[in-house]
Amino acid sequence: MGRVLSEGRAYARLAELTDSIGPRLAGSPAAAAAEKWALARFEEDLKGTGGRAWLEPVKVPHWERGTVARGGLLAQPGFRAQPFALLALGGSPATPPGGLEAEVVEVDSLEALQAAGERVRGKVVFFDHAMAQPSDYGRFSSLRTRGPAEAGRLGAVAALVRSLATASLRSPHTGATNAAEGAPPVPAAALSVEDAELLHRAVAAGPARVRLELDSRTLPDADGHNVVAEIRGREKPDEVVLLGAHLDSWDVGTGAHDDGAGVVMVMEALRVIAQQKPAPRRTVRVVLFANEENGLRGGRGYAEAHAAELPKHVAALEMDSGAGRPLGVAATAGGEALMRRLLPPLAKVGAGVFLPGDAGGADIGPMRPAGVPFVAVRVDPTHYFDVHHTEADTLDKVDPVFLAQDAAAVAWVAYALADAVEVLPRQPPPAAGGAAGRH
Ligand SMILES: [Zn+2]
Repeated sequence: MGRVLSEGRAYARLAELTDSIGPRLAGSPAAAAAEKWALARFEEDLKGTGGRAWLEPVKVPHWERGTVARGGLLAQPGFRAQPFALLALGGSPATPPGGLEAEVVEVDSLEALQAAGERVRGKVVFFDHAMAQPSDYGRFSSLRTRGPAEAGRLGAVAALVRSLATASLRSPHTGATNAAEGAPPVPAAALSVEDAELLHRAVAAGPARVRLELDSRTLPDADGHNVVAEIRGREKPDEVVLLGAHLDSWDVGTGAHDDGAGVVMVMEALRVIAQQKPAPRRTVRVVLFANEENGLRGGRGYAEAHAAELPKHVAALEMDSGAGRPLGVAATAGGEALMRRLLPPLAKVGAGVFLPGDAGGADIGPMRPAGVPFVAVRVDPTHYFDVHHTEADTLDKVDPVFLAQDAAAVAWVAYALADAVEVLPRQPPPAAGGAAGRH
């Protein structure tokens, strides 16, 4: 752990990934460049250690934002016409050429949308909500992921979603929106918080009308890869402690917190563990997942390709909440006793605390039905959703000291779980219709 703090490479690596490769949406040339970069860095780190790295192919969605994204409020009594700061949501189709204009129906929940029913036909549905703190993300994110498709099913011509944000300097937050089965997708965009507030006032004084023009498109699925690296265990090489993060990012900003930070933390953890002599009892494997943001094909592909090995995955940990300072460790049911025994060294970075609540992650979620126990190194989420999925998710938002502390905590937890005599308890299969992954 000390080595990560004193001679760590996490921040320098994050600078390479963000300044040189930049945003890396699934299917883009930059996503392929990021895979090459990660493989080369793993090979460097593992040289002479007996560890190895490889690529595992997955097909990924290929969506392009395009170059046109404009829209705004039309003039109405008491309101001048004015443009919105907006971003197309991932998966959105284009508007008709020249854009569209329609009246707005505002709702604050999927239930309210269903209640509006026929009233939204031919209209633009505006999803407003009251996200104020990081823990609200899970509560309101379905408005973005499911709202536009549900609005389309009811005959709406487009959807506008208030950005899922904890701070705003008129910066819209993009993100994935799902297609509806049996209904054509509708154009969908995220509004900055300021513009959502404006539109809310205009609707209240209404009727309000907006215009929207997008030229986004979905291309045929593309080739992507999970980048995998491991150091084999000295006693039980078939038992695996898995560390994950996702290598893809949105196409705005440079994916520094989401999830470049997680990527360099788990890379750094493997680098220092590979230098330990002797190697830990069990195998430590790092997976940099493809396509977390708009498809989860990497996480699903890994669980499928490795289904036969999952009964011997003794723990999985995913870092995908940015690089705030480390707060402590959490685990799935029954994991507290073992984790508490492994915690004391984490006090050095302020994370020697066992935290209540479940552990998990979008990419490791598909391993849950196989009973794989999850652990988490929790980081301070206070400012994550200030920049999440925006043009402002850039290297300068990442604190190098916190990043190194996070990496050190991940390295210790992985090493300790791989070398402990005992393992975490396997998990019961989740109830049908259980929680889906977060994006
Ligand atoms: Zn992420």
